[in-house]
Amino acid sequence: MKLYNLKNYCEQVDFLKAVKMGLGKKQGLFFPIDLPIIPKNQLEEIIEMDFLTRSIKILSMFIGNEIKINDLTKYVHNAFSFSKPRIIPVTKNISCLELFHGPTLAFKDFGARFMAQIISHLNKNNDITTTILTATSGDTGAAVAHAFYKIKNVKVIILYPKGKISKLQESLFCTLGENITTIAINGSFDECQELVKKAFNDEKLKKKTGLNSANSINISRLLAQVCYFFEAYALLSKENRKKLIISVPCGNFGNLTAGLLAKSMGLPIQSFIAATNINNTVPRFLKSRKWKPYNCISTISNAMDISRPNNWPRVEELFSRKKWNLNTLGFGSVSDQITTETLLKLKNIGYISEPHAAVAFQLLEKKVKEDEFGLFLGTAHPSKFKDVVENVLDIKIKLPKKLKKPSKLPILSHYMKPNFEKLKTFLK
Ligand SMILES: *Cc1c(COP(=O)(O)O)cnc(C)c1O
Repeated sequence: MKLYNLKNYCEQVDFLKAVKMGLGKKQGLFFPIDLPIIPKNQLEEIIEMDFLTRSIKILSMFIGNEIKINDLTKYVHNAFSFSKPRIIPVTKNISCLELFHGPTLAFKDFGARFMAQIISHLNKNNDITTTILTATSGDTGAAVAHAFYKIKNVKVIILYPKGKISKLQESLFCTLGENITTIAINGSFDECQELVKKAFNDEKLKKKTGLNSANSINISRLLAQVCYFFEAYALLSKENRKKLIISVPCGNFGNLTAGLLAKSMGLPIQSFIAATNINNTVPRFLKSRKWKPYNCISTISNAMDISRPNNWPRVEELFSRKKWNLNTLGFGSVSDQITTETLLKLKNIGYISEPHAAVAFQLLEKKVKEDEFGLFLGTAHPSKFKDVVENVLDIKIKLPKKLKKPSKLPILSHYMKPNFEKLKTFLK
């Protein structure tokens, strides 16, 4: 598989290199040169495969012979070794695609776990050590920590703002130990990110420690996510497949990019809705064609509090490569007030959700027509946003085992001032 840098077509790398590098020169994203297509007469056969077999097929169509099929098979089995996505009917013609039955109860488990397998493959062949350094305000840290837990030749260091993430979230990734180190920074999330950036700009340090950020721009995470769009389609009745609209709650737009890649391969999805909270740079862009990010605003769907979504250039590139019209992409942004009302509405229908999925449902319900079928992505388990959900819905949420167990373990984090020299010493 060959990929090019969106900021410089001449910088071309293979898949493993792109996974290792994350970004190309000038912080450019990597994008596949060849976009695989499933011949129409093979689609049915692929849809009928089970989730793992089909996922191996899809990933191998992208990755090609760079990874032997026996290895890829093993990696997909290791990565997706948890409950499959589920489809839960919500209204007559709208269902939720629940992607939160993995170890950290968020869809990010799919991408992070597959990436961990690829990194471990890279290290196996080269006998090198990788240091995953990442900053988190919640979900990413947990998914990455669990994905790389006990993976050989990989050290994980996660920075997070002390006291600014929920106890529940903290317990999910700061209690693991082994190769997972967590550092509570006495500062804001932005300061954590600043430290990570500085580390990546320090070429010497980068080389010495084999730094990789494992963030959502990594191509391996995106490709893994393509697989569950196929699974969603496979789970639907023939009738509901015909006019399928998928609404995606967007932050960095990785999930939407993955869905569009699935469509580009020939999966018959009629259209997508890019759903955001009030951090609505993309919806405003789609309306006015002017790119004007505002300062980021805190909302109750905080995993989507991003005003400069870094996967967006990939969406534009795909539309341009496929000669699709950007006007066919649905969009909208939802305030906290409406998100709250939607959570209540969903509860009355009989479905307990959480703020991110509620944003996607709200726009979908507004746009889906009688004769169409809508899916909205459930990106996290309601218990991960326990405080908001309990407060809004006036209910008590029972913690799933996956959250309850770590919540009783001691926090193993180190503490540090937001000082780069200190971090540098620590990394060495
Ligand atoms: C990360 C995240 C999102 C946003 O996904 P992107 O791929 O960054 O657009 C949405 N919901 C939840 C719960 C998340 O953790």
